[in-house]
Amino acid sequence: MHEKDVFCKIIAGEIPCYKLYEDDDVLAFLDISQVTKGHALVVSKKHYENFLSCPQKEMHKVMDVAQRIGQVEIKLLGALGVNILTNCYPAAGQSVMHFHVHVIPRYEQDKGFAITMNNNAEGLNLPALAGEIKDNL
Ligand code: 5GP
Repeated sequence: MHEKDVFCKIIAGEIPCYKLYEDDDVLAFLDISQVTKGHALVVSKKHYENFLSCPQKEMHKVMDVAQRIGQVEIKLLGALGVNILTNCYPAAGQSVMHFHVHVIPRYEQDKGFAITMNNNAEGLNLPALAGEIKDNL
């Protein structure tokens, strides 16, 4: 048995949260940090380390709920967009090792969140890279 992480404790009712949705497999609640207004977390009730180790059926259920929250938040909160994000492993920013998806509404003037994607393709052998990944899927 792994030691209970903070989301296991929220699921067990040992730590309070502002609940948005709950069924047998999925819980959604407001992220404590509110990177932007309405920032939500959707978690699998069963403990999996992250998206990559979550079985497909439960992963799909979590993504379904994330989609619905994103749709509602755009309508309700006047968000102009939404980032659906899941971090896998600390190198990618994962701090709670329990599968969760962030739903981060985006507004005209939000200072809370930014993603930068630079073009670093120069020098890479893209056909070889694509071939290697494709052959291992
Ligand atoms: P990660 O960095 O692992 O992708 O995201 C973890 C998220 O969990 C962070 O955005 C953080 O604010 C949120 N979080 C950590 N502890 C709590 C808590 O006790 N309650 C709630 N609602 N969110 C939490």
